[in-house]
Amino acid sequence: AKSTGRNRASYFTNTMQEQAQAKLKLTTDLRTALKEKQFRVFYQPIVDLLTGKIGKAEALVRWFHPTRGMVSPADFIPLAEETGLIIELGDWIFKEAANFTKYISQKTQQTFQISINKSPFQFHEKLRGEDWIAYLSEIGLHRNQIVVEITEGLLLNSDPSVTKRLLEYRDAGIEVAIDDFGTGYSSLAYLNKFDIDYLKIDQSFTKNIRPGTSELAISEAIIVMAHKLGLRVIAEGVETEAQRDLLIAAGCDFAQGYLYSKPLPSEAFEKLFTDITQ
Ligand code: C2E
Ligand code: CA
Ligand code: CA
Ligand code: CA
Repeated sequence: AKSTGRNRASYFTNTMQEQAQAKLKLTTDLRTALKEKQFRVFYQPIVDLLTGKIGKAEALVRWFHPTRGMVSPADFIPLAEETGLIIELGDWIFKEAANFTKYISQKTQQTFQISINKSPFQFHEKLRGEDWIAYLSEIGLHRNQIVVEITEGLLLNSDPSVTKRLLEYRDAGIEVAIDDFGTGYSSLAYLNKFDIDYLKIDQSFTKNIRPGTSELAISEAIIVMAHKLGLRVIAEGVETEAQRDLLIAAGCDFAQGYLYSKPLPSEAFEKLFTDITQ
């Protein structure tokens, strides 16, 4: 039994070592990817449920690795956060998305807003990256064309530099959305304090929206509460017409999901957005 234990222990160590090595390799690859510009920003339409038209899009990063192929952000964003590379990557994504928004607005003369994910790490004062507000002035993009998506946890962060930055955004006119709403803490008291604009109902709720489910009841309650507080609601992960219809009946403002479109490369998104039949 003792030797088994030892074997198991050494096997475990070995696995940890392999894991550490794989992580190190991925980190090296991430650095190379930043240098060699292997990332692309994709855009997923957000549809106004009142008009059925696209008025916004969420910017979602994609990594096209020369041999690994497309790597999911779920697989590299956490590592980018852990290594601090998220600052450089996040600033690049922001500039790409802001430039694209400027281009689309100028070309179409239509109101268009871009939603950009910003993880708690990107708010850390010590890792301070580029000044996003200054960049918007530089390219002449209206600040209210930018929505920053944060998670509930950020609002409960006690680090004053984090909340200070968020309030700077608010003061500059940038809008704020709470991503994955309902999955984390219930930070209801913070919604007013930080003057939040949007709540995004998490896909785990949307997936189970059917007559009689608790997910539908919770979504309806979120929408009523949000409207009373002057916030608008975006449902994520809408895949079926049945889900959409129940969300419309519940008074939901916006929807995003495969029912409308997957995240698209900029050219394909532009085509969809400028399609006169949309
Ligand atoms: P998220 O912010 O919650 O993004 C929504 C995710 O749901 C995206 O996955 C999107 O492709 C996916 N999705 C959209 N519609 C549907 C649908 O109808 N059904 C299903 N099953 N999924 C749908 P993606 O692009 O793989 O991104 C995963 C996560 O990675 C994001 O979750 C976000 O937390 C993070 N992420 C992605 N891009 C960025 C970025 O530019 N910066 C930061 N900091 N994080 C990012
Ligand atoms: Ca998001
Ligand atoms: Ca989300
Ligand atoms: Ca507001």
